[in-house]
Amino acid sequence: MMSSYANRGFWLWVILCWSTLTSANPVLEVQHLGNEGVLLHSGETTVLIDAFIPEETYGRYAGLAPETWQSMLDRRGAFSSVRLALASHVHVDHFQPDAAVAFLRAHPETEFVSTAQVVEALASVEGAAAVAGRVEAVETGGIDFSISAHAGIRVEFLRLDHGGEFEDIQNLGHLVHVNGFKVLHIGDAEMSRENFQRFGLAQRDLDVAFVPYWYFLNPSGVEVYRQFLQADSVWAVHIPPAQVDQVRARLAESFPEVLVGNGNRRGLIK
Ligand SMILES: [Zn+2]
Repeated sequence: MMSSYANRGFWLWVILCWSTLTSANPVLEVQHLGNEGVLLHSGETTVLIDAFIPEETYGRYAGLAPETWQSMLDRRGAFSSVRLALASHVHVDHFQPDAAVAFLRAHPETEFVSTAQVVEALASVEGAAAVAGRVEAVETGGIDFSISAHAGIRVEFLRLDHGGEFEDIQNLGHLVHVNGFKVLHIGDAEMSRENFQRFGLAQRDLDVAFVPYWYFLNPSGVEVYRQFLQADSVWAVHIPPAQVDQVRARLAESFPEVLVGNGNRRGLIK
């Protein structure tokens, strides 16, 4: 009898130590969902960025795998409770308004925050009125960044100009603080020093950064990456499936520290 009580005490001790250890050392689960769509999950919190993309776009950028989209609608696994969803900009490879409304209708717990252009596109979808109370536009006109808190998640919204010929597209970078982790997602930000230098990103000690793959193929992009986008875990994203092998080979050669964001790749950050 004595030894059985002693054993029980031992196991109680093990459980206490384990729960102390796990609560003192939170982990962040990162899942690449497709194109620039990502899931961040830590503790009880799940955040989605650029994830409402079930359809393939422009004939080259992957949408979500059908089973991933179904899991999102069915609230399975890490998708069971999504406190916050974000979208960088209105282009359909980052945001599909019908999908956003379908998701928000299936997730009454989710708040959605994005640009005025995204919110306007969402409002034009049938059924959008039912979710309008949980949709918020971030001011992107005259400011460089703003900070807001949603259910314990802090987000710094960075006004980063869109690259290429899209000057009138509002593009948001997101610096998400979740459970002590700092995660940067930059949408399709133009790869110039001027675009990034005002945010002090080099001093932010980032845990994770998601970077469009073309940054690594261009001298200006490489300069921005080296100067502003350093993180413990860097993911190349927005890779057309037809080019994944080529990009992987290129990164392995010159940027072996960079992970290839491809489909449902997952990572654990400690
Ligand atoms: Zn874009």
